[in-house]
Amino acid sequence: MNLIELGENTDAEYDKEHSCAANVYPDCDRLVHCVSQFDQPMDSWQLHNLHFADAEEVALGDAEDVGELTYHSMIVVNFCPFCGEKLK
Ligand SMILES: [Zn+2]
Repeated sequence: MNLIELGENTDAEYDKEHSCAANVYPDCDRLVHCVSQFDQPMDSWQLHNLHFADAEEVALGDAEDVGELTYHSMIVVNFCPFCGEKLK
């Protein structure tokens, strides 16, 4: 999922992403810089935790398609929780 698609899912706009080798699940744990949400200006780094359905969840009826976004949470952060870098 790119930053535009993530923004469409959250009604927000992101201009930067922090990536580092210390994050072993970079597709699921995304550190992004938010510049607006619900049309209000914003300046915050956020850790988004995304979960995409696998074949087993589809077989169990918990999701319709493999790769479907089934869980999404977010917290505001000042540092990367993986490598410890201060985000700016
Ligand atoms: Zn990092």
